[in-house]
Amino acid sequence: MTEEVNGDRSAWLRCYRCWARDLEVQLHYDAILKVDPETGEPSDRLDEVSDAVVQCLRCLHDQPHLTVHEDRVVPVEDRWERMVAGTPWVASCTVTVDQDQVESCSGEGAAESLTYGAFGEQGVREFFTHVRFHKHDEERIIIHMLVELYARSTEEASEVLEGASRGTLELTSLAEESRPPAHAQDEAH
Ligand SMILES: [Zn+2]
Repeated sequence: MTEEVNGDRSAWLRCYRCWARDLEVQLHYDAILKVDPETGEPSDRLDEVSDAVVQCLRCLHDQPHLTVHEDRVVPVEDRWERMVAGTPWVASCTVTVDQDQVESCSGEGAAESLTYGAFGEQGVREFFTHVRFHKHDEERIIIHMLVELYARSTEEASEVLEGASRGTLELTSLAEESRPPAHAQDEAH
């Protein structure tokens, strides 16, 4: 194993929020096995689905800029630099989508469905989204949200929101917040 393969690991193998390097991986496996009709024993592996979530042991946040590939934690190329070097931005915005894009807009899971409807996978995994309310307008749903995301500039933050949006995005405000303090111990390295 060579440690240089991906360049300087210390740049990306860290928490994007507090920069700590104490990380853990939570692996969830779903294995689908064929049952042997003679013995009743599950055998031949038909399929295996795995989902990996990298978490910071210091601040306990998920790390959407990291993923697991071939038993190794690797950076998500189009995301890690922005998240590690960036600062948090808070956007107040609306996304107008077709109502078909939202599975359910009331009851349990409504906030997640609305977030997914507005910003897809990235909205659910990377952004911190607070759905304030939503309105129906004929076939469309207008979703009002507060979103926190990491970016290196105002332009980049709005580009990321625009890119993730699954409908018409309207930004009411976008403000930079200060980054949570880094751990002195890690910064000494
Ligand atoms: Zn952290």
